[in-house]
Amino acid sequence: MSLIDKALKANSHYAKNYDPTLGKRPAPKVAVVTCMDPRLSDLPGILGLPHADLDVIRTGGPAVTEDVLSELVVSTRVLGTTEIMLLNHTGCGFTTFTDEELNAKLAGSTGDTSPAPMRFFSYKDPEQNAREQIQKVRSHPWIAKEIPVRGFVFDMDTDLLREVRRSQSHGRLLSERIRPCKI
Ligand SMILES: [Zn+2]
Repeated sequence: MSLIDKALKANSHYAKNYDPTLGKRPAPKVAVVTCMDPRLSDLPGILGLPHADLDVIRTGGPAVTEDVLSELVVSTRVLGTTEIMLLNHTGCGFTTFTDEELNAKLAGSTGDTSPAPMRFFSYKDPEQNAREQIQKVRSHPWIAKEIPVRGFVFDMDTDLLREVRRSQSHGRLLSERIRPCKI
């Protein structure tokens, strides 16, 4: 049995304990953009916030694409989140290749060069990635100026979050360690 078939079977048991409150309109408080990496799936544990408070947007990297920007606009303007957290991490798979390398590898391994080169949003430095994300999100005119946009790097070796921010007084980029709340 495939894992998906196994999951479907498990769902029929899960649904027996259906929580009717989940059918109501969601009211998340924080939009979190983070990587598709499964080690980041326990966000309530990592951030000490309940599932219901988190509007989670996941992409590889994470990459703040045009789609992610539109989702952040919906999250803040329609769903009502009031803060944006850009959550990068150490040891990301997207730092292990360049777009050019992966495109060449796939064309070689499949023998099919017909697809246009794909944009995988590979990168090298999670802190730099976070800085660029903050800039990209902050500069979008439909993201309200009063919504805080903060970037972080989650250290896979310590489970600690490190904030990446721009110093207002000196215009320099700084980072600082913070300890996340654990449930
Ligand atoms: Zn990653």
